[in-house]
Amino acid sequence: MFVSRYRIIDLGYVLMYEFFMEIALKEALMAKAMDEVPIGAVITDLAGNIIAKGHNLVITENNPCSHAEINAIKKASERLSNYRLPDTVLYSTIEPCVMCMGAVVHSRINKVVFGAFDHKWGGCGSLYSFQDNKNLNHRPEIVSGILENECRKLLQDFFLNKRKIKKGESKCPVLP
Ligand SMILES: [Zn+2]
Repeated sequence: MFVSRYRIIDLGYVLMYEFFMEIALKEALMAKAMDEVPIGAVITDLAGNIIAKGHNLVITENNPCSHAEINAIKKASERLSNYRLPDTVLYSTIEPCVMCMGAVVHSRINKVVFGAFDHKWGGCGSLYSFQDNKNLNHRPEIVSGILENECRKLLQDFFLNKRKIKKGESKCPVLP
């Protein structure tokens, strides 16, 4: 058994979550290779088939909305020819931000599985908790802490390296 921040989940599920989080981490590395903040996302159906993948591209696309999760949601919607994504799971290496969680609710994604918490922008318990707002007509299930250390270290190392290049910034912009 594995104790997440929100629920006790079955070990079989954890292995599946870790499998897809590894793929999300590979997406994050693709972002890193482009000197983007290394965040990756994957969307699967409930049977575990990958529908779409995405990584952070805000600088490359000159678009503050081009987060990994948004990019994956757009690709999945195009692939399914549907502006809703029912019966799907979104994996993200970091807690989706409030913008991305808004898109998750709009697209009716069933479940969000993420790695590290984002205490600055996170919409699954850190800055805000979409899943707890009873005014919303869709509230996704949340699973946190999958490959958390790997996901966090990737970001921390990225910003550590950035700070070495650009002196004078003492605090990680994303993680505490
Ligand atoms: Zn986001």
